[in-house]
Parts: sequence; C-alpha cells; structure tokens
Amino acid sequence: MHIGENVDVIANARIAGEGRELLAHPHTARDGLFDLWVTGGRISDIAPSGNLRPRGAVLDAEGAWVVPGLWDHHVHFLQWALASSRPSVEHAGSPAEAAAFAAGITPQADGRRVLSRLATALWEAEPTRAVLDAATGDVPSYLLGVDVHSVWMNEAAFRREGIAPTESGLVRESAAFEVIDRLDDVEGSVADAAHVEVARRAAARGVVGIWDLEFGENHAPWRRRSDAGWDALRVFSNVYPDDLEDVLAQGLATGDPLAANPLVRLGMLKVIGDGALASGTAATSHDYDAHPHHRGVLGASPEQMADLVARAAAGGIATTIHAIGDAANTAALDAFARCDVPGRIEHAQLVSASDIPRFARLGVDASVQPQHLIDDRELTDRFWANQPARPYPLRDLRDAEANLLLGSDAPVSPLDPWIQMSAAVFRTDDAQDPWQPEQALEARTALAASTEGGSADPVAIEPGAVADLAVVAHDPLVATRDELRAMPVAATMIGGRLTHLG
Ligand SMILES: [Zn+2]
Repeated sequence: MHIGENVDVIANARIAGEGRELLAHPHTARDGLFDLWVTGGRISDIAPSGNLRPRGAVLDAEGAWVVPGLWDHHVHFLQWALASSRPSVEHAGSPAEAAAFAAGITPQADGRRVLSRLATALWEAEPTRAVLDAATGDVPSYLLGVDVHSVWMNEAAFRREGIAPTESGLVRESAAFEVIDRLDDVEGSVADAAHVEVARRAAARGVVGIWDLEFGENHAPWRRRSDAGWDALRVFSNVYPDDLEDVLAQGLATGDPLAANPLVRLGMLKVIGDGALASGTAATSHDYDAHPHHRGVLGASPEQMADLVARAAAGGIATTIHAIGDAANTAALDAFARCDVPGRIEHAQLVSASDIPRFARLGVDASVQPQHLIDDRELTDRFWANQPARPYPLRDLRDAEANLLLGSDAPVSPLDPWIQMSAAVFRTDDAQDPWQPEQALEARTALAASTEGGSADPVAIEPGAVADLAVVAHDPLVATRDELRAMPVAATMIGGRLTHLG
C-alpha cells in the first residue's frame, strides 16, 4: 500500500478507544484480532479476523492497535511551520546570554534575525534593549517569547517595524501579535511548502485534523492551499474579530467548507480574553506572588466579549475565547452565559472552583494543552502558588463533565497529541514527581479528548463511523508514560485514504 491509496480492509488489528468493550471479548475473537472493512470513507463492518475473506486493498495491522484519528484542537500552524527555521533561545539563563546567542545567528534572507522560545520569567535580571543592542548591533533582531505573547527586539528591529522603542526592548500582547504577524508574512509558496511538510509530520503522529488559530487573516491562504489539492489533514480555520464582518458578509458559518475542498472548513471566532502566564499578562483575581498589585491584563470586558459572541452567533459562527487566568475564565463564561450560546475556552489554565461546573452547564468546551503544565510548573509554583483558583484543573473539569479538547498550542509545545496525552495522564516528563497528580486524567479520557468530539463526545470505532483512524504500536490505555509520548504510528488515514504509512 502507499500514501494516497484507499484502504478496503484493515486486517489483524486490536481495537483501542471507545467501542472496544463491544468487541474485545475473549470469546468473540481469536487473540482479540479484528478486521475492519471500509466502504465509502466509513467503517462498514468489523469482524473477528479470519471470519471473512479480506478483499481489495488490505492493510495488515499485524496485531497493532487501531485508534480514532487524532486532533490537535489548538495550533498556530504557520508559526509551527516556520518554527524549524527559528533557532530556540530557551536555554538562555540571562538577558546577556540570550543576546549573545542571538548575535551568533545568521539573519534570514530578508535581513531579519528571528529566534524562538525566549523564556524570561525566571531570569534574575530584567531584559533591557541596551543589552540586546550591544550584542546584536544593526541587524534587526527579534526574540519571540515562548508563549508567543511577547517579543524582545533591538533598536534596529523597532526602527524597521516603525514602532517606538521601549526601554526593555519588549513588546507584549497586541503589539507583539502585530510584530509576529509581520514576521510570519513570508512568500505564499514558501509558507505553503512549509505547511505541507508539517502536515506530513503531523499525519506521521496519527493526526487527522487541526484547529488552526493562527493570527491574522487565514482564509485566503487556506483557500489557496485548499485549491492546490491540500489532502493531509482536516482543518478548521478560525477568524479573529478584525475579520469577523468580512466572514459574516460572505455568509460563512462554522463548519462550512472554505472552498470546494471539503477538508478545509470555517472554525470559530477567536477572541483574546487575556494574556499568558510567562509574560505576566494572564488576568487573575488575586495578585501574582512576588508582584504586589499585579493581576495581568483582561483583553476585553465581559460586555465586549458578549457583544462579539452575539454578533458571531447571529451569523452561525461559534466563538472560542482565550482565557488563561481565573478572572479571564470568569469573564468568558459570563459572556457565554449572557448570550445563552455554547462555545469554547482556550487554555482554562487557572479556574476558580465555582467556575468549574459552569463549563458543562453552559456547554462551553475546555480546550487545554497539558504539556504546558509540565513546561510551566516552576512558573506556576512561583507566581500562582497563592491564587485561590486551581491551576490546570483537568480532573476537576472532567469530573464536572466538561468536554475536554486537547491541543498543543504549537509552536508553544510540539504538535504531537501523544505528548499531550502523556502529560495529561502522568503530569511529568522527566525524573521529577508528577505535578499535582490529583488532577491527572485517565488515559481513556485523554485519548477521547484527542479525538474530534472531545472527552464528552468521543469518536468510537464502530460500523458507520468515519474511517479517520491511526494504527499504533501500543494500547494507549495501558501504555507507560514514555511509551505514550513516543507512540510509534504505523499508519494514518482520513476517510480510509492513507495519509501516513510508517
Ligand atoms: Zn494559541
């Protein structure tokens, strides 16, 4: 078999995920092996191996596990595609070290020097523009924050962008998004080639779909890629408030294809409710530890959020609100409650106990990125230890029947659902003890949350289901932490068509 070919039968497979109880009975199948028939892009039949004679194009799973095709519910796909060309400065422990490292990086063809994953929050010295200027001189240099909510720039970069320089050299939030948007404004053909490459890599991890929350106007580029035969992933392309009127005027609603290609569809309106922890801009109800009177920044009032939610809903467009701090989560939930429409919250990193049950009650999905809880454990302990709200309350949300959707926020963490599942279940990825293990998810929930419908509406492997599937080496429900993180993926398919073959 080869990539692009339609599979008629997956032979000799074990079934993982929802639906397995119906099948994985010792009396119904020899060795628990099954053959899955695919017709017209859907699973048409499942039978114990050997009961029926396989016909057509047969993919032999050789005893490996079939799981539902995976989704990453939050990516910045262009930034992720470009990330490999932006050296990481994450290792730098001080402004001087980061500046010296930047100075050694070869500028891009456009004369700019762009680095990624700047992590300043635990530095003892504050970054200053002078330190960066001294090391990097006349080459416009940009160090993108690890949470993509800030950029550290030298004087030459401020000049090139036509922005008044700040003393620290840092720009944050909307100013940072604007700068990142300009850095991401590469030639269409370059961007498209990079998209195809990262989509191929995602498919190789079992991914069949993404929610693309890239900043800026994304629909024209997605239409272009769509028309050029995009076939590696299903894509929901989302819209920010600046482009909402445009999209409404086109009569597009959530779920509508953007072009003839049915794989690329309109997602949701994305509203920025606050900042991020690492940049100190997530909006909290109490002061950050070590920062008296500092409670981050609310990006929009509940009234403004509600206004956007209502305008979008009137045109059939659902809304997702970025909310990291507990104050932002409260405001976002208030906005959905006021409009009486379901929706979604991105991140839900710090949630007050009284807000946790509101997710399920209001029909607001929680789109969460479990690897952040590992990457940010030190930051969270340092700045939020005394917040009364709960950080990364994945288990509480699940117990309150919220629909959990897992994602990476790539490039903030890698676009690899197995990393997210492992982080959700084990809450550590090294020799350190699990961080707040009482909030760990069961593997089954983590897997369901990595499918299109989420933990409350998991995709089952059963006749009639769309044949978006992956074939993997271990049973994800009992895999160890490291088996789960590094899960070998033998094959991935969308509607029965192979998008990856290991
Ligand atoms: Zn994001």
